[in-house]
Amino acid sequence: MSEFKTPATEADFDKNFAQIKPLMTANQAHFESSRCLFCYDAPCVTACPTGIDIPLFIKQINSGNVNGAARTIYESNYFGHACGKVCPTEVLCEGSCVYNHQGVPAIEIGRLQSFATEKAIRESMPIANLSGKTAGKVAIVGAGPAGISCACELRSLGLDVDIFEAKALGSGLTVYGVAPYKITNEEALAEVEYLQKQFGFKIQYNHPIQSSQDIEQLEKEYDAIFIGIGLGRTSSLGIAGEELQGVEGAVEFVEKLRMNKANEKVPAQVIVLGAGNTAMDAASESARMGAADVTLAYRREKEAMGAYHFEYELAKSVGVKALFNAAPLRIIGNDKVEGVEFVRTRESNGKLESIAGSEFIVPADLVIKATGQSKQREFLALISGVQLDSKGNIIADSDSFQTGNPKYYAAGDAVSGGQEVVNAVANGKKAAKAIAKSIAG
Ligand SMILES: Cc1cc2nc3c(=O)[nH]c(=O)nc-3n(C[C@H](O)[C@H](O)[C@H](O)COP(=O)(O)OP(=O)(O)OC[C@H]3O[C@@H](n4cnc5c(N)ncnc54)[C@H](O)[C@@H]3O)c2cc1C
Ligand code: SF4
Repeated sequence: MSEFKTPATEADFDKNFAQIKPLMTANQAHFESSRCLFCYDAPCVTACPTGIDIPLFIKQINSGNVNGAARTIYESNYFGHACGKVCPTEVLCEGSCVYNHQGVPAIEIGRLQSFATEKAIRESMPIANLSGKTAGKVAIVGAGPAGISCACELRSLGLDVDIFEAKALGSGLTVYGVAPYKITNEEALAEVEYLQKQFGFKIQYNHPIQSSQDIEQLEKEYDAIFIGIGLGRTSSLGIAGEELQGVEGAVEFVEKLRMNKANEKVPAQVIVLGAGNTAMDAASESARMGAADVTLAYRREKEAMGAYHFEYELAKSVGVKALFNAAPLRIIGNDKVEGVEFVRTRESNGKLESIAGSEFIVPADLVIKATGQSKQREFLALISGVQLDSKGNIIADSDSFQTGNPKYYAAGDAVSGGQEVVNAVANGKKAAKAIAKSIAG
């Protein structure tokens, strides 16, 4: 039974979706930073895909130099604020903190990072040095973490940048996908606005690049093109009943929730199909929207779940129930969804098999498919020379992120097939360095 009442107002929504890593006060930041051992060869730095000098920024906070701390963070990671809030720090920097070996809570690196960067954003603290100007103009397709990170780095290397974004807002899944209890829309958008002001790149919103003509135009006008388009819509399950009213993809469900907040309604009985991090988010969010009964259903056993353990614990903590070894056979209903028929499964010689005669039905008013995101194959097929692997991910060089067409570079989820914000930020920046080098000659 969910402990949350259906939110009627935006204030109710914010209460149900209270930040799990709230901003620290100055006192809290001072106390927490004083716990850091400022380790030599610090494992927390090695664990960060953007290699932020964590002991340095923590020391700067501790000595009262909060702006210096923000500068240290942004030098390595242009999404410093967002990453402080949305990164799975439990398995990255904080998971590597030496305190874990001593049975003492790890330093709250993420919250310290957000503390310093929030001040920088609020005070419009200068971070960019745009003194140099280099000939060259780059088009970026997609204003997600990969695209924006690439834009910031290119601008700091002196090139001109235009971003073309299909949607109305910037920051990609940071605002459209990540769970609202990790970062608010306002926080995600404030960082993009700050970076835009600092680095001076343009974003053309509601401007999808979608036809051969669009692509030809970009190729004529720009010296290089960076593809940071992420992934597509939720993949289909391939079972009967997916077309029924009340069956939704997890990515689309979360996007509607983030945009409409309390105006979105979630019914009483929800089944989430899948066991990755997105499934955990969709289940937690349904519970926080007041659904009375939320069940995560996964065809394999608990140990095979793709989600981080802490994400599963978070979902359970808000009343989400789990159903393991249950494979969906069909979604049931007339026009509108009424339930899901499952069959019990078991592992036999490493293979998953259905147990004959074990079929059962779980009633539902909403079925959320958290079955991964599809690839944007049709769009990518329009660009000659850009090759995809068998899974539909763009093939790009692992250092330069150049694709099979030398004018095109790509990074982020469109290349990795789906990682974290921090990986997209790290690789978007590396691509920018390679683009600048290639344009320079
Ligand atoms: C539900 C969900 C929850 C997540 N939660 C977390 C989390 O808690 N922490 C975390 O670190 N990561 C999380 N992730 C993963 C993370 O959001 C992604 O790894 C990251 O956003 C990838 O960045 P990107 O720039 O490659 O792509 P995206 O963020 O997807 O951005 C791509 C951008 O390109 C635009 N675009 C696409 N096609 C076109 C086109 N043809 N023309 C113009 N623009 C286009 C899109 O509108 C979008 O704005 C989550 C992902 C999902 C789906
Ligand atoms: S590992 Fe922990 S204690 Fe050591 S520098 Fe990093 S945050 Fe500080």
